[in-house]
Amino acid sequence: MNYGRIVERCRMCDSPKLYCFLDLGFAPPSDAILTADELREPELLFPLKVMQCEECGLTQLSYSVNRLLLYGKKYKYEASITTTGKRHFHSMADSICERLKLAKGSLVVDVGSNVGVLLEGFQKNGMRVLGLEPAPDICKIANERKIDTLQEFMGFEVAKRVLRDYGKAKIVTGTNVFAHVDDKEEFMSALDVLLDDDGIFVIEAPYFLELIENLEYDTIYVEHLEYLSVKPLLRYFNEHAMDIFDVELHEIHGRSIRVFVCRKGKFPATGTVQAFLDRENQKGIYSRQVLDDFARRVKLHRDTLLGLLWDLKRRGNRIVGISAPAKGNTLLNYCRIGPELIDYLAEKSVIKRGHYSPGMHIPIVEEQRIYHDRPAFGIIFAWNFADEIMKNNDAYARSGGRFIIPIPEPIVVTNSSVDDVNVREVNPVHFDDRGSITDVLNETIEHVGLIETKKGSVRGNHYHKRSVQHSYLLSGLMEVIISAGTCPDARKILLKPGQLITIPPGRRHSFKAIEDSFMIDLITESRADDGYERDVVRVPFKEAE
Ligand SMILES: [Zn+2]
Repeated sequence: MNYGRIVERCRMCDSPKLYCFLDLGFAPPSDAILTADELREPELLFPLKVMQCEECGLTQLSYSVNRLLLYGKKYKYEASITTTGKRHFHSMADSICERLKLAKGSLVVDVGSNVGVLLEGFQKNGMRVLGLEPAPDICKIANERKIDTLQEFMGFEVAKRVLRDYGKAKIVTGTNVFAHVDDKEEFMSALDVLLDDDGIFVIEAPYFLELIENLEYDTIYVEHLEYLSVKPLLRYFNEHAMDIFDVELHEIHGRSIRVFVCRKGKFPATGTVQAFLDRENQKGIYSRQVLDDFARRVKLHRDTLLGLLWDLKRRGNRIVGISAPAKGNTLLNYCRIGPELIDYLAEKSVIKRGHYSPGMHIPIVEEQRIYHDRPAFGIIFAWNFADEIMKNNDAYARSGGRFIIPIPEPIVVTNSSVDDVNVREVNPVHFDDRGSITDVLNETIEHVGLIETKKGSVRGNHYHKRSVQHSYLLSGLMEVIISAGTCPDARKILLKPGQLITIPPGRRHSFKAIEDSFMIDLITESRADDGYERDVVRVPFKEAE
């Protein structure tokens, strides 16, 4: 059996100068869920070490697992199961068609097309579509959904066949695919066959810079051979007579980059490419210091998460997982979280149910189970879809269940219930001729801030990991929006002078000044040094639904 290969030279530039900065131990393929029978057999584990090429900057794993082991019949990831995902891919198709003014009937080929959600979007725009999807179960579902799909990997021979039967492609897409390809040269030769002269190749992949910034280390697993950033891609495509002419940042899988590639000189470059390169350099994502620091934060995160779970468990709480995405398995395996901590993983995808998570062997059950047994806590492993998952499980939250969002910092949130945000009138306790005395607060406070906000401006849109925030409005008028964690279901409060609002940790809040306003913030944690940064989680801007 060929299990794979040790990576000794960079997959993109062939340099042997590879700096290993993170070791997540040994891990099974994250998508390889197991049947009950398979639990009695040996399980394959692979080293999960991350290196960066010191020549071109490509971040990659130290070991490439044989792709037949990864995308064979056991592959069970269905891309269409979240509405957020569906909306994202359909709008991706719309924006590409709009941008290129594609003629109806142009051919779009999606590599690693899964059940065809992206292609469905192109089909709606009147394009001819073809998917390449190696996993037989998934390929079958795609064809049943009337998305023409070949059960194939992208390769030179396959490309020639597609060319013969379908013609040249105006668009070739690969979402979360390019970084999984071990033999890039084969892929590029196939792309060269398939892509029309003025065609474009669009890659979408989690952005390495965001992975570092937001500690998204759970997106590291053996299927993900590379963690893409713009610098190495630019060099690689240039060496293959291609240009990157635009890059966009999107909110999916944490944050992903969408990279637009064309044959050399076919499309004018926008300024975004340089802006991305500048930001990568400025954040230091190619420096050993930043990489080492990331590895240190990963270890700390494991300690914090385990500490939280064991603490809850010792106090007699039942904990389950809500959603069983591939990335959850990195957390489970690296942190050694097994059935002794988590009873089961409640999952929406029908084909995963009745199976066990790879490595830690936690049973995967139907989503509704949490409504019957009402465990005290549910960890949302698909934290990138936390908003949607919390909304879908509102009934669980209303019956007292609480959510744990594990990344970037483990945090406990309740769903739409933000009743613990308190607003009260602070009335003077003493009057005399001299004036009045008001006891604003009797609590230990480590930070006091005076905040002036001009009419129409907005502050906040974040939540605090540890501190309680008391805000006392001195003058003006503020509209406060409160929601739980990253959940968009919000409560709106009009804060008037003389009122004190108390916001516990985990409650996302924003303050909009209706009038020029003065406010005093009383915070239970010090903001000296990097205290503020350690306490605050910014919530990315979300478009209105
Ligand atoms: Zn390299």
